[in-house]
Amino acid sequence: MALFTNYVEQVESSDSTILYNFYNGISIKYPHILFKNIEEFSSNSDIYDLLNSEQFLSNNFHFKIIDRTLQLILLIHEDCNFRCTYCYEKFEKGAMSKEIAESVLRFIKKEITENREKYDKIQLSWFGGEPLLNLKIIEFLSDEVLKLARQNDLEYYSDITTNGYLLSPRIFQKLLNLKVNNFQITIDGTQVYHDKQRLLKNGHGTYARIIQNLLSIKKNITDDTVIILRTNVGKENYETMDENISNLISLFGDTENILLFFHNIGNWGEKEIEVVKKDIRLELTKRVIERGGHVVPFIWTMGPDNICYAAKENHYVIGSMGLVYKCTVALYDQRNILGRLDKQGNLLIDRKKEKMWTEVELDEECYSCTLLPSCLNNRCPLNRMTSKQTHYCLPTKGQIEEMILVLDKQNLITYEIGAN
Ligand code: SF4
Ligand code: SF4
Repeated sequence: MALFTNYVEQVESSDSTILYNFYNGISIKYPHILFKNIEEFSSNSDIYDLLNSEQFLSNNFHFKIIDRTLQLILLIHEDCNFRCTYCYEKFEKGAMSKEIAESVLRFIKKEITENREKYDKIQLSWFGGEPLLNLKIIEFLSDEVLKLARQNDLEYYSDITTNGYLLSPRIFQKLLNLKVNNFQITIDGTQVYHDKQRLLKNGHGTYARIIQNLLSIKKNITDDTVIILRTNVGKENYETMDENISNLISLFGDTENILLFFHNIGNWGEKEIEVVKKDIRLELTKRVIERGGHVVPFIWTMGPDNICYAAKENHYVIGSMGLVYKCTVALYDQRNILGRLDKQGNLLIDRKKEKMWTEVELDEECYSCTLLPSCLNNRCPLNRMTSKQTHYCLPTKGQIEEMILVLDKQNLITYEIGAN
């Protein structure tokens, strides 16, 4: 009989064994010097109690994520000061007006008044185009929603995806004061490659200014703030990643809250882009760890609640003109345009379309898959729908063992048996 649930993976390193539970993200490591084998380990009474309480032993998994966050991803300016070569946006729409922002606020008020029991947290995510082109809407909505969260005893969380060009120390401080404390900024490689891909509207490069901004703000980063430096990797810049990683570590390796992150460029726009077929995240993450740099913890992609926001109920993308979507990538795809927000703050959306994103069938392969709790066949609903297969696995499915070993390298094991 199997010792553990279907969702527990066991990995051997040279001197220890690691167990990782995909149901709850808990990991346990023991050295071979203490226990001869897994049977001896799990029959120890203290260990048995731990395994039992951390749900390594019983298959009582519920196939539904209980998500208690109301998240709005707000495209507050759909134009951008950049024209990146791989960008999928058409820049036909401009800034979100105060009127639309007021409708957003009415929607949030209604939702948390009428359905208060559904939520623990409100999350506002500033997105574009380039959100810093419309700072006054960030100020207006942050102030109002922070008040609402306080009055209703809800947690508040806010993040921004910005190209970083306008992120001066003054604007950074303003955002921190507005409780924005997760920043995602793209650096696409060495200066030469970044400046080829991430250009201003007038065709000039942007690397020097973004790096200057980051160097000027890094000493002001508060403990609860994270800056993620995202590198989009395609065929063209893949070969330069070693140099990119060295540069970024020499500039920001002294700041724990600045984390590197790598992402494969996808082909979602109308432009043909040369993509790297294999998933590069794990390989590049390992290179950063080996050089002592700070990188996004891999557990962020392995936990039980890591499906895409587009797959979750209560998560909507709202465009600058009040259109309502699920995914931030496929903005011109009819499956993704759910409807619109009216003046009174009602979501006039096609609920059947919405369900195509949030509701999914699981097939036999999913039911017998170790990754099921953290995947639910919905890590990327857009790819799932487009692939037209009964399930859509991420390329990392074949890398579970390596992922767990990276977790160990990042010192993110929950229980180290025998450690002082
Ligand atoms: S989609 Fe693939 S990775 Fe996800 S649960 Fe199903 S079989 Fe596993
Ligand atoms: S549905 Fe897929 S493409 Fe769209 S935001 Fe989610 S992960 Fe990205």
